[in-house]
Amino acid sequence: MRSLTIRRPDDWHLHLRDGAMMEGVIGDTSRHFARAIIMPNLVPPVVTTADARAYRERIVNAIPDGDTFEPLMTLYLTEGTSPDDLEEGKASGLITAVKLYPAGATTNSHGGVRDFEKAMPALERMAKIGLPLCVHGEVTTPDVDIFDREKVFIDTVLDPLRKRLPELKVTMEHVTTSDGIDYIKSAESNLAGSITTHHLIINRNAILVGGIRPHYYCLPVAKRESHRLALRAAATSGDRRFFLGTDSAPHIDPLKECGCGCAGIYTSINTMSCLAHVFEQDNALDRLEAFASLNGPAWYGLPANDETITLVRRDEPVDFPAKIETGAGTVTVFDPMFPLHWDVA
Ligand SMILES: [Zn+2]
Repeated sequence: MRSLTIRRPDDWHLHLRDGAMMEGVIGDTSRHFARAIIMPNLVPPVVTTADARAYRERIVNAIPDGDTFEPLMTLYLTEGTSPDDLEEGKASGLITAVKLYPAGATTNSHGGVRDFEKAMPALERMAKIGLPLCVHGEVTTPDVDIFDREKVFIDTVLDPLRKRLPELKVTMEHVTTSDGIDYIKSAESNLAGSITTHHLIINRNAILVGGIRPHYYCLPVAKRESHRLALRAAATSGDRRFFLGTDSAPHIDPLKECGCGCAGIYTSINTMSCLAHVFEQDNALDRLEAFASLNGPAWYGLPANDETITLVRRDEPVDFPAKIETGAGTVTVFDPMFPLHWDVA
């Protein structure tokens, strides 16, 4: 196959940041994607509907002329989140989902939830009004090995929560393990999972073999190869419960290349090329549209996009920049470690 036309994709997990960084990266998303779920982990985080409204306005103002892009806003769940504010946010059409970060799980998550009992009024209201919960599915206690965080989260937090609130719709974001895939498949309803571009491509060797490579470090951290293969199988299967959430997360190079580097991989610019490569390798190009453009909107109760994009397979590798310049500083672009031949025409 040399050319593939699919409905315009959406990104169901994206970090745009704010200010000069946002202005520097938003065009890489709006070029290809029609919509994205915008993560609320700013400093300070987006915790109220009023915060989200102001943030949305800053995003809309930064969209390059000529692009159409709809940011789908989320709120950062805290122990003090007001159920009424959530309900108003959903009713006004502004809020698409609420994000749960266990405290300390990743970038700017220190305000996250420590005591789930305190977040229960908000979670109960969400279940009642059909507002989905997006979870960063990792426990953060020091006794749990970082590579086991996802599985322990499923067993000790997510499964009990879903049993307590079976009507709550939960998106397990950036699934990284076969345990996560199996858990999502085992659910009868109200559970789906997003998968990033980079977790389909790298395993933990990319971070650690031959020297420490900070630009492959993200959270949840990439796992061993058997897990990557499970993610690939799920993503390329067409199963409606799995869809794209890039988790593209820009940090400037000095914050990645230092003694305590930040977690995050920047993939917005080459995600569609990487995905076409992955799906072609797995003889599943005919299912790329389901993963990138159909399953996500169906899960969130939104229509698929009417517009299309066309991916073309070029003879020569596509030349993506190794780094992009933003007003906040230089950001390194995800290097999949193989040449990319697919390009969005
Ligand atoms: Zn994220």
